[in-house]
Amino acid sequence: MSQAESELQQLRRVLEIPTTREWEATVRLLLRLMGEEPNREGLKRTPLRVKQSLQFLTSGYRQDPAKILHRTFKVKHDEMVLVKDIDFYSLCEHHLLPFFGRCHIAYVPDQRVLGLSKIPRLVEVFARRLQVQERLTTQIAEALEAHLKPLGVACVMEASHLCMMMRGVQKQNARAVTSAMLGAFRSSEKTRLEFLTLIRPSLG
Ligand SMILES: [Zn+2]
Repeated sequence: MSQAESELQQLRRVLEIPTTREWEATVRLLLRLMGEEPNREGLKRTPLRVKQSLQFLTSGYRQDPAKILHRTFKVKHDEMVLVKDIDFYSLCEHHLLPFFGRCHIAYVPDQRVLGLSKIPRLVEVFARRLQVQERLTTQIAEALEAHLKPLGVACVMEASHLCMMMRGVQKQNARAVTSAMLGAFRSSEKTRLEFLTLIRPSLG
């Protein structure tokens, strides 16, 4: 049997073992494929740690944005609400490497507002999944629009991508900026400019 065939057999065996052990077995296999010896002292608990770490970093799949956004408060306030400089950490779906940075979110209420702490929690629901930055930005804005029904929503995200910094083009200082503008932020230049002026000091 060739080496390739025996590796394939090994892989099949690994994938057929019961679900509860799949995570750890898969990480052990990854370690072997990377040229490591999974049984050496320093790596013994690595499969378990990687499993726990990845389960946390993808816990957004098991959270429902509706649960965070369902409680709103009636107010007279009809001026922009802005939460800026929200730190976030996500994983790029192309390389499973982190991208991270800051997020700025604004909305113009239509008689209802959210508790301010709900906004960073919403960011985490979508950031703790495999993502591309563009989709993450849009999902946050659209979830706010769908559940809060404000007059407008804006979301700007600025991030460094380790897959660009550590590999590929190896650009250390490149940051990607993405934005989603809905409702009043799209239709009214005045509203959009007010938002951009307020977040400008935060943009790198
Ligand atoms: Zn990537």
